[in-house]
Amino acid sequence: MTILVAGGAGFIGSHLCERLLGLGHDVVCADNFSTGFRQNLDHLRAQSAFTLVEQDMTDPASSLPASDMIMNLACPASPRQYQLDPLGTLRANLLGTMNLLELAGRWRAPFFQASTSEVYGDPGVHPQSELYWGNVNPLGSRACYNEGKRCAETLCVNYHRHRGQPLAIARIFNTYGPRMDPDDGRVISSFIVQALRNEPIELFGGGHQTRSFCYIDDLLEGILACAFSVEAFSGPVNLGNPQETSIRAVAEEIIELTNSRSRLIMRPMPEDDPRRRCPDISLARHLYRWEPRTALTAGLLKTISWFDGVLSR
Ligand code: NAD
Repeated sequence: MTILVAGGAGFIGSHLCERLLGLGHDVVCADNFSTGFRQNLDHLRAQSAFTLVEQDMTDPASSLPASDMIMNLACPASPRQYQLDPLGTLRANLLGTMNLLELAGRWRAPFFQASTSEVYGDPGVHPQSELYWGNVNPLGSRACYNEGKRCAETLCVNYHRHRGQPLAIARIFNTYGPRMDPDDGRVISSFIVQALRNEPIELFGGGHQTRSFCYIDDLLEGILACAFSVEAFSGPVNLGNPQETSIRAVAEEIIELTNSRSRLIMRPMPEDDPRRRCPDISLARHLYRWEPRTALTAGLLKTISWFDGVLSR
């Protein structure tokens, strides 16, 4: 198949392009490089099955080569980056998703949407199943992302219902691994960078809030299972690691694994930061027999090793 990966120069997208090429597919990566990097794809550029196109998905994209499947990951994903340009984030989610859905209709191609656990907001139920509608502040500083992603899901579902668009939606929970942007302020990347530099590690709100962290290789297996099962189920499906960990425990483990002299310093909790986040993955287990296999320590060691290489360059 020829597969269009929108947002393929980012953290998850670059791993996805690599994995799809490894499976024998042709890959067209379209990206505006707003938060992704060409060097994430340098090792793929020589492959004839790989095409890289500079394209902002909020603009008309009529020159993209027709593909057999579209995978939409094109959206800034870290709070620091999506809050830098809230209108751009909304445009990516609304216009970008709509443009890609129109292309999918024209090409008769199935559509995969990378959604997010942020659609659950600061959740009132634990763990979060796909049936939970969420608790989102539509006016807060995170709303450009979480309301944008909610509306992108609504677009997808309505193209499915009213135009018969074959569809898969994955609600992705916090994912980590090599090629995260060291400067994007996400928890694991920030803690690893601060620990490797022996700088203080900033804990917001005391670090008692919890997250569940999924290693990139595990997430990719889930994404592939989801995207290639559009005939069986249209989604949404939670993809994440159900092992819930406090942010403080993650910081302490990273300090230990890096033999760091960093100390923990406390910062106030940012606006609308969720206190707990943990996926119920019963549906993914049932549909795809999928569940994460990488223990946090093993995934952290691989990620630390990659960041160590990047920082010492
Ligand atoms: P990322 O920022 O590394 O990647 C996003 C990519 O999309 C970048 O390459 C960026 O340049 C590109 N992009 C952004 N706006 C675009 C536009 N208008 N046109 C074309 N390209 C555009 O983020 P990521 O962590 O790889 O996340 C990928 C997707 O997965 C996002 O949609 C994100 O919402 C979703 N997601 C990620 C996580 C996570 O933990 N990483 C969790 C939940 C959901």
